[in-house]
Order: sequence, then C-alpha cells, then structure tokens
Amino acid sequence: MIAKPCVLPKSIEKYQAIIRRIPETNLSKPEIVTDYNNRLTGFLGEESVMNFHLEPISDLNYQIYHDLRLYHGKYYFQIDILILCAYFALVLEVKNWSRDWHFDKVLHQTMVDVNGKLERTKNPIFQARLQAFKLREWLKANKMTGIPIQFLFVNSNEKSNIIIQEDNKYKWNVCNSEYLLEKIDQIDKDYKIELLDEKELRKINKLLLTSHTPENVDLLEKYNLSHKEILTGVHCPGCNHLPMTYNAGTWRCSKCRMESKTAFTDTIQDYFHLINPTITNSEARRFLQIKSPKMAHYYLNSMNLNSTGTFKNKI
Ligand SMILES: [Zn+2]
Repeated sequence: MIAKPCVLPKSIEKYQAIIRRIPETNLSKPEIVTDYNNRLTGFLGEESVMNFHLEPISDLNYQIYHDLRLYHGKYYFQIDILILCAYFALVLEVKNWSRDWHFDKVLHQTMVDVNGKLERTKNPIFQARLQAFKLREWLKANKMTGIPIQFLFVNSNEKSNIIIQEDNKYKWNVCNSEYLLEKIDQIDKDYKIELLDEKELRKINKLLLTSHTPENVDLLEKYNLSHKEILTGVHCPGCNHLPMTYNAGTWRCSKCRMESKTAFTDTIQDYFHLINPTITNSEARRFLQIKSPKMAHYYLNSMNLNSTGTFKNKI
C-alpha cells in the first residue's frame, strides 16, 4: 500500500511563489531559479519511481512512503522513499540528474560528467546508507529493533548512465529505476523471516506518519531578501503575470486575457508561503492591492481560514 503518497512538497510551492514575485532584475533570482529547477527535477524523479516503477507492487504487502523527514538526535534526516514490510525495510535515495555517474572502487569517490569533464559530487550510495543508519537509530530510540534495513541509490533519469566496476564493493546498492522491482525481488528472496506482525507494522506506520515533519524553509531568509522586495498584487493563475486588474468581481490578466473570480486565493497562499503564516485585513489589502476593507474581509472569509481575535484585531 502507498502509506504516504507522492505530493508536491510545500517547499517547491514556495519556490514557485517567490519566482513569480521577485523582479527579473533581482540579483538573487538566477540562483533561486537554479535551486528551484534542481528541486523540481528531483521531485519529478521521485514521482516517476513512486507512481510508475513501484506502482506494480503498491497493492502488495509493502508499506511505501514518499519523502519522510524525521527528527533524531540534533537534526532531521530525510528519506526519499521508504519501503517497509514484515521482513525488511529498504531506503531509496533517488537522483534524477541528467549526468553520467562514475563510481570509483578505491576511495569510493563519485564523479559526474559535466560537459565532458568529471566533477566530484556526494556519493549517493553513502547518502542512502547514512539515511538507513539514521532510520535504524530512530527506530531503536522508539524501541523497535531487529528489522534489517537495506539501502539503494536509484537513478531515475533514463538518459544518464551508471559506470561502476564489477568488483566495486557497493555495486549491489546502485540501480536504474527500471531495475528496481528486480532488486526488491532479490531482497525478498534474501529475507525470509517474518520480524514484524501486523500490529507492529501498524504501530510503525502510525509513528512514521505522525513523526514526519515537512521542511518549512524561509526563502526570504535563505536568500537574504526583505519583504519589500516581494512584488504585491494578484498574479494570473494562467501565466503568472502580475498584477491582474479588478473590475466588478472579476480579476483580468492584461497579458493572457485570463479572467478569474478566485485568483486572489493563490495570492493569499503566496503571502503565507513567503511573508507570514498569518494575515490581517490590512496586510491582505496591501498584498492584493485593494482598498476596501469589506472586500478583503469577504475574500479572507471565503477561504475558510482559521482565525483568532475579532474586528480590527482579527488575524
Ligand atoms: Zn495571464
């Protein structure tokens, strides 16, 4: 079963919000766009593994989790995909890079091909191994021991090659996504002892889901930007142009001619993503570029948000 499905992470939504709301002339913009593209590419790789390559086993007795972020010791650790069953756990580190991977067997350095030149990068097999180690410690701290944890680096990009020697100690821990089911079959054959009963699996499932803490990155802080650099106004849901103009209950885009009565909701979400998780009537007016407190009140009310305070003090 898919215990935690693949959904677009909030951090990627935040990047989409900041990209449409800082001008092209902002010096941080190229870096932000690059970081966004990398995150999006990574997510699309994980999505293809979850929704396509693991789909055939999604109805079997595996609990499959996408993107778990758990706290242990002093820090969070993050697992791209976890497969859990009564016999074993399997941690997947998924990369969707359009570069060839070269694994060295002596120092276990990893190189990727950048325009014909090899550049060193983090070894994704060791990243997977580290997450597996941390998961073991986390389970131990939660009084669950004894389940073997395997780890794999999965290359989800069909255009990139993996170059690894036959006698590399870690060659088993690498595969392309199309070979993933075969790997799971192999692990199935190796682990025959039932270590977790249904009750224990349910308990771990509940613990994983309640312990998962999504990343809540503050992009203004990360890129050293101030609130003032964020463009206000309602953006067009069709082409991201802003601001849309308002007339008689309808927002209109001057660029793609789209018309919408509800475009303001995405703009309020942008405010939550970038500026503050709470909003007042006057902040909403400033961000939506509207003058009427009544209209701002009507819009915010229509979104069914949680609120505290009354009248002027309402948040
Ligand atoms: Zn538009």
